[in-house]
Amino acid sequence: MSDYILVLDEGTTSTRAMLFASDGTLAASAQAELTQHYPQGGWVEHDAAEIWDKTLACALEVIPKAGGPAMIAGLGITNQRETVVAWDKESGEPLTRAIVWQDRRTEPFCLALRQAGHEAEVQRRTGLMLDPYFSGTKMRWMLDNVPAVRAAADAGTLAFGTVESWLVYKLTSGAKGAGAHITDASNASRTLLMELAGSSFEKELCDLFGVPISALPKVVDMAGNLAATDPSLFGCAIPITGLAGDQQAATIGQACLAPGQTKATYGTGAFVLTNQGAAIPQSGHRMLGTVLCQIAGERTYAIEGSVFVAGSLVQWLRDSLGIVEVASQTEQLARSIPDSGGVTIVPALSGLGAPHWNADARGVITGLSFASGKAELARAALEAMAHQTYDLARAFAADGTAWETLRIDGGMAANDWMAQDLADMLGIPVERPGFVETTALGAAMLAAAGAGLYPDLASAAAAMRGTLTRFEPSMDEKVREERLTRWRKALAAI
Ligand code: ADP
Repeated sequence: MSDYILVLDEGTTSTRAMLFASDGTLAASAQAELTQHYPQGGWVEHDAAEIWDKTLACALEVIPKAGGPAMIAGLGITNQRETVVAWDKESGEPLTRAIVWQDRRTEPFCLALRQAGHEAEVQRRTGLMLDPYFSGTKMRWMLDNVPAVRAAADAGTLAFGTVESWLVYKLTSGAKGAGAHITDASNASRTLLMELAGSSFEKELCDLFGVPISALPKVVDMAGNLAATDPSLFGCAIPITGLAGDQQAATIGQACLAPGQTKATYGTGAFVLTNQGAAIPQSGHRMLGTVLCQIAGERTYAIEGSVFVAGSLVQWLRDSLGIVEVASQTEQLARSIPDSGGVTIVPALSGLGAPHWNADARGVITGLSFASGKAELARAALEAMAHQTYDLARAFAADGTAWETLRIDGGMAANDWMAQDLADMLGIPVERPGFVETTALGAAMLAAAGAGLYPDLASAAAAMRGTLTRFEPSMDEKVREERLTRWRKALAAI
């Protein structure tokens, strides 16, 4: 029976192919690192041909472990969002390096648009801010600065897409210049070129950003029979049945399928998404509105808030201060003392994200005394995660989306002390899945539902989610208040 799901999980630093059984267990995986190109300060680029070659090689490595391509019911793709690839529809080859989501080169254009008074309208229509992070201004930069991209636009052969779009093009015989040019609604909602309420890219928004709408892919569902791989690639055609941007995939992988359900991923930074149901999000607190899922044309939305510094603070303790040798030691250190001795860290090492949005802020450590040592600093670093998350919880609640439980994942979520502290400070249960690769699992759930292995996404999620560890809040209210007072005072010191 063909009941395996193949997931291509294309991240910022690596690309992977993962083979899932229909009950959500991981059967095999292969991974390859991606080269990061930093041509100038603030610029980050990837080679789209390398992404394709390495993703294909990983897929070819794991497919035999399913017993061959015919054993695979569906293929799901999840990807680093916002990164832009430009290619030629006739040759199927990239026209320039991909501009990665972290790249800040389009800040002058964003500033000009903000100064021209476009931000409020753009935010209302797209749910996003005028920030270089999103795809639209990256496309415009390529048109203005790469002659081959402009020439292809003039000749009508230019294709723009985010990375899932590029991979689908190549998988569907793009090598012969005849691939499917599609993007899923979650990735499309990160471009600034689609309205949150819209089902396709919007001419007026494309005109504002100077992007020809003819170069953009068709916006499609995130599960279903979306396309099929060229039979010559793997030996027979594999249906492409799931597509999602990484944070949306993780939210689905955490089974946040009902309004109010929330996941937080603690990696280098932290990304929090709350399911908003069918209502189009309009944040009064500078959170982002984004498409969470679209199946059979039916949309659900999410509110998204990101914190710039999470695990990278622990990395800084390890690499710059030498307080720990490995990140997990922060847990023993935090447990070795009853409190942080009044030490508080505001981890604004690269500015503060939501809900503060202060790019120029820099970190502070308050409350140091001669009694402060490694343990106090490690504990204060972990406490800062709950403090930052608490501020997000307040802002989400003020937008009408209070959290009932928080589902956590990402490398830092392995820290039990931090998980308990989150439950204590937020005053809600925190759940952590036994299988922490929620991004890939979410893509597998979409692909399984899309392939018809399950009647719908909720059934796929229920069958594939696996075991959970739960952390219940148990902190004394006075201790909690004292922590929050310390945090607010430290924030005011910025
Ligand atoms: P990313 O996907 O952003 O590369 P990961 O999800 O792999 O990040 O998480 C890695 C981050 O988590 C690192 O910054 C590391 O410092 C931190 N980290 C990993 N394990 C722990 C732990 N047990 N306690 C605290 N921090 C941790």
